[in-house]
Amino acid sequence: MDTQCPFCSVQCKMQVIEDQGADGGRPVYTVVPKPNLASEGRLCIKGMNAYQHVLTGERILHPMVKKEGQFIRISWEDAYELMVSKFAELRGAYGNHTVGLYGGGSLTNESAYLLGKFARVALQTKYIDYNGRFCMSAAASAGVKVFGIDRGLTNQLSDIELADCIILAGTNIAECQPTLTPYFTRAKEKGSYIIAIDPRETGTTRIADLHLRVKPGMDATLANGMLKVLLDEGLIDEAFVQQRTKGFAELKAHLNALDLKEIAELTGVSAELIRKAALAYGKAATGMVFTARGVEQQTDGHMAVRNFLNLVLLTGKIGKPGCGYGAVTGQGNGQGGREHGQKADQLPGYRLIENPEDRAYVAGVWGIDPSELPSKGVSAYEMMEKVYEQEIRALFVMGSNPIVSNPNANFVEEGLKKLDFLVVADFLMSETAQLADLILPVSAYLENAGTLTNLEGRVLLREAGRPAPGESKHDWQILCDLADRLGRGSFFNFASVEDIFNELRLASRGGVADYYGITYDRLRKEEGVYWPCPEPEHPGAKRLFESSFPLPEGKALLTPVENHLPKELVSDEYPLYLTTGRVLTHYLTGVQTRRSHSLAARDVESFMEIHPRTAKKYRIEDATLVKLESKRGVIYVRSRFSSDIREDTVFVPMHWGDTQNVNKITHDALDPTCRMPGFKVCAVNVSPLVTE
Ligand code: SF4
Repeated sequence: MDTQCPFCSVQCKMQVIEDQGADGGRPVYTVVPKPNLASEGRLCIKGMNAYQHVLTGERILHPMVKKEGQFIRISWEDAYELMVSKFAELRGAYGNHTVGLYGGGSLTNESAYLLGKFARVALQTKYIDYNGRFCMSAAASAGVKVFGIDRGLTNQLSDIELADCIILAGTNIAECQPTLTPYFTRAKEKGSYIIAIDPRETGTTRIADLHLRVKPGMDATLANGMLKVLLDEGLIDEAFVQQRTKGFAELKAHLNALDLKEIAELTGVSAELIRKAALAYGKAATGMVFTARGVEQQTDGHMAVRNFLNLVLLTGKIGKPGCGYGAVTGQGNGQGGREHGQKADQLPGYRLIENPEDRAYVAGVWGIDPSELPSKGVSAYEMMEKVYEQEIRALFVMGSNPIVSNPNANFVEEGLKKLDFLVVADFLMSETAQLADLILPVSAYLENAGTLTNLEGRVLLREAGRPAPGESKHDWQILCDLADRLGRGSFFNFASVEDIFNELRLASRGGVADYYGITYDRLRKEEGVYWPCPEPEHPGAKRLFESSFPLPEGKALLTPVENHLPKELVSDEYPLYLTTGRVLTHYLTGVQTRRSHSLAARDVESFMEIHPRTAKKYRIEDATLVKLESKRGVIYVRSRFSSDIREDTVFVPMHWGDTQNVNKITHDALDPTCRMPGFKVCAVNVSPLVTE
């Protein structure tokens, strides 16, 4: 069967061949990469083994209700009846907003679209958000503010090898999007100078010519240092700045007042190295800047990204071959998942729920009065606060594991336990599903069709390859069935996933993320189509901002960004910084990759990366269990020595739950603009786990 990887945002295409074993033996599966423009026919270890979690014997096959602490099989009809009666009871007592919906960035565009519509039309609740809030919200909000559009890459991946200088800020592409690595190694072979910014040495920093080992949380300040050097050295593209940007005078005054020595002290990167990086980027004829969660998952993530966009704009390196910006999306449909209305503040096509014209347009497509559309809700973590405060009393989770992916996870778990009714739609038992009152079995990536939009803004069609097992249903079928039973079925009259896409095309028409010109027919014939694509004859926008930005006067926005310290600083009690991230073999909270035997065998448990000198100071031996503690909780993980990490910092990956769930100790302060939590830096204490 032809399919594409369910994991990261490259969306590599592949073929999974099932060979029925002889004489009723076990089937054997062979995975073959398929050529396509993004991955160029490559697959990484995650993609090669993704089929294993789908075919595991651990699939949830029937709806299950919890009775006296045990899950018991029930029929779909009983499951729907239970949901409808519980929702009716709670809405009657507390109002429509007592029901919340929590989506995911791995859902197809069609499921994400329908979930947003279901919240607003079927349940008429304002409380909907999704786990992509933790993935892309800083880059997305920065892109909208600075460029007028949030699309992961402003150009194509093929531009990378045309860039003379590349900045990789807070991105570990070699482990998170491995099939992209050859784009960078090829660029390097052609003479590109690569600068990596990361507190740790990773597979990505090892391909760089220059590694700036920044203190966690100080990326925005580091960018200020580079900007100052560019200004002082006259490496500004004055014509571009004058003709295509606004705000230079304010930015210049701000940079003039900064002191490079002070920046070096704050960031832990010497003035000499900051200067070297700035000169390399500033003098290069072409260049690209990439950011990812290292820069974005900060309590100043929005402004930190904007400061990297200042670098792009001051040097005029955008809108032409070999020049651009890329937010390296993490989740499989991290890009599309945020375009179609499962965010608290957005309607399909990136329309804003608070904008009267946007409300009127989408209400028109949906056939309702604009006054029926609820107002803006709150972000994912703030929804968890509403759950804790019992303003939300019923939660419907689709394609997400919030108990592991939210910061301050002990608080989140306490809140979820207070719910009157928790429903989880998933195909594997997650830590969140364990807490549910009702579990609905859904289809997995080999079984459900739909579109996904990769990190370039390229929309791709994934066809279904096999039937869903047991009584599993597709997400969209569940939403349509439920809408029907809630008396809103006439608004959810879809016979196929393509029907939903055709309504999505209309709902996005004329919006920022315009999909109107994209059809399933085109997607079957072409290797994906880039948005915006306003008409069926339009080729799709491969490179953005060639002549103007979709902002007043066509100009992008330069903005001064203050030097920020992290919200939580180290102290005598918590003397080390903790930063988090991914490893090569696992994805998100690990619910899927931990079920793949080939992947789990390589990384069977979590770990804490620590510098040997730091370990000695805290009496930690290599490969031993340690206790890691912050103001919010405690976890237990195994130490892993590495001289590749800063001595003031430890690193723990994010793919495990329970006592290894790093989010039990992460900080829940939010970015004031995009509401991204500051996952990437908090203060911790470490000690050996003494067993009697
Ligand atoms: Fe491709 Fe990403 Fe899947 Fe690896 S995880 S195969 S890079 S889509």
